[in-house]
Amino acid sequence: MNYSSILNKIHQQVTPMLGQGKVADYIPALANVDPNQFGMAITLNNGDFYGVGDYKQTFSIQSISKVFSFTLALREHKKKLYRRVWREPSGDPFNSLVQLEHEAGIPRNPFINAGAIVVCDSLISKSNNNEAAVNDILAFIHAISSDASIDTNKSVAESEMQHGFRNASLAHLMKSFGNLNNEVEEVLTAYFHQCSVEMTPLQLSRAFLYLANNGTDPISNKQFLTPGQAKRINALMLTCGHYDASGDFAFRVGLPGKSGVGGGIVAVIPGKMAIAVYSPGLNEFGNSLVGTKALELFTSFTGLSIF
Ligand code: GLN
Repeated sequence: MNYSSILNKIHQQVTPMLGQGKVADYIPALANVDPNQFGMAITLNNGDFYGVGDYKQTFSIQSISKVFSFTLALREHKKKLYRRVWREPSGDPFNSLVQLEHEAGIPRNPFINAGAIVVCDSLISKSNNNEAAVNDILAFIHAISSDASIDTNKSVAESEMQHGFRNASLAHLMKSFGNLNNEVEEVLTAYFHQCSVEMTPLQLSRAFLYLANNGTDPISNKQFLTPGQAKRINALMLTCGHYDASGDFAFRVGLPGKSGVGGGIVAVIPGKMAIAVYSPGLNEFGNSLVGTKALELFTSFTGLSIF
């Protein structure tokens, strides 16, 4: 398959759509990002990679980081984790409070904000220190991507800390139900730093290969998850990776994927590759508008999807 020409064709087709969608200005540090950017990269399980547009541009991975923290938590706590966070789609926006009250502080899944905050809490519990938890997440990202240059962006984390009123509400509500072990402030500090990690589409497509190869990175041969755990994370990305637009993403793209309000989306083709796309204009559900279209075109042009 000629991936370079497929990526070029996608780039051409989505270019007229750039500028549609709205950048995530509820995080002031992200409000001034240029909405016309577009980059897409794929890394195959054999290590070959292809890219188009701004595929070497770093951006804020935001909720894509929830896959990394969940992977670490699953390794540490195994099935016990599902007592504190479920594995059902929420059908609600990523930062919704409504369900959480009805469901006694147990978030629907680890990829909505409430779920990721619980996961973060479970990572802090070992050392009782938010910095150590963020360092563990960063060390994990370095290991899966064989790239130690990846880091958080302190000013983006600060900016969210000052304006994260909804996340604070979610955390306090869960604390009131006894589903946070650490102090709210400590957990939120770790969560916002985790979300502020910056990566390029190319780095992201490389980092996700462990999920395209049953939990073992196909390039370094290091095992990060059991095949069963990798299957479950992919299933969760398919059913919950795009919040209340997860059904639409599965319908249009047909792959497990995870989005973030920084404008990134990563999708996995088990046994073959990982694909990352970046375009900061978001649709009404907080997912990259052009990024979703680009992935839809990719699976249509290549005929590659899980269905
Ligand atoms: N840090 C963002 C928040 O908590 C992440 C949301 C997202 O990417 N969907 O609101």
